[in-house]
Amino acid sequence: MSERKTAVVTGASRGIGKAVALELARAGYDIAAICASRIEAAEEVCEACRALGAEARAYRCDVSDSAAVKETAGAVRRDFGAVHVLVNNAGITRDTLVMTMKEEDFDAVIATNLKGAFLMTQAFLPLFLRAKEGCVVNISSVVGLMGNPGQANYAAAKAGLIGMTKTVAKEYAARGIRANAVAPGFIATEMTEGLETEELLAQIPLGRMGRPEEIAQAVQFLAQAEYVTGEVLRVDGGIAM
Ligand code: NAP
Repeated sequence: MSERKTAVVTGASRGIGKAVALELARAGYDIAAICASRIEAAEEVCEACRALGAEARAYRCDVSDSAAVKETAGAVRRDFGAVHVLVNNAGITRDTLVMTMKEEDFDAVIATNLKGAFLMTQAFLPLFLRAKEGCVVNISSVVGLMGNPGQANYAAAKAGLIGMTKTVAKEYAARGIRANAVAPGFIATEMTEGLETEELLAQIPLGRMGRPEEIAQAVQFLAQAEYVTGEVLRVDGGIAM
């Protein structure tokens, strides 16, 4: 990249978001790293980004809280000026079968995984429009494509993200703004701790869990891919083939 650009990454304190922040820093982006509560971990990610030559700042922001999102967007704008890439990665799970799923667990997963991406996109679109360019990458899931027992809330949120991605892509393409999604399979992070069973691995054609860095590479590709919009890129070892 010739001039420096800024990427906002939600859920950047650990797991996939941390890997995305580092990959984008390595590619030449300055990083606004957003987390829910583990601000020290997000600060450490920023330190690692700075070691790669990027500017980086950590922000604590619950992406499901519209006032907090607006405030954070204002802070990022003051700190970095322009924003070029938004990676909506923050996510949670509250797994159980439909019959036993509590309404609050359905709502919480939709609020963070789906509404959070909406609020962040809405808050950062004005910055993209001013810059006449911008790129949203939403971290969906193969579960949004295939369904998964115990994850009605999560599957609904991740499928919803795909619909939202394509809508944003259509609404803002003429203004130079792209929107794409990555649909990871099973990636080894805190979210999937304890899930790596022989039964699961047998369902994955490539026979292993993915690494956060493998999702980060897909995000970095989509950030740079100027003729790609409205795409859903599976990075899943073939499980959703
Ligand atoms: P993770 O290790 O559990 O990390 C979740 C991240 O999201 C943390 O940085 C957390 O911040 C942040 N977060 C949670 N709720 C938030 C909120 N309300 N506001 C702001 N930040 C919030 O998860 P991961 O495995 O890296 O997953 C990252 C994304 O990939 C999620 O959207 C997930 O659904 C998706 N995904 C994961 C897999 C997988 O196999 N791991 C597969 C498909 C899709 P704190 O550290 O401060 O709590």
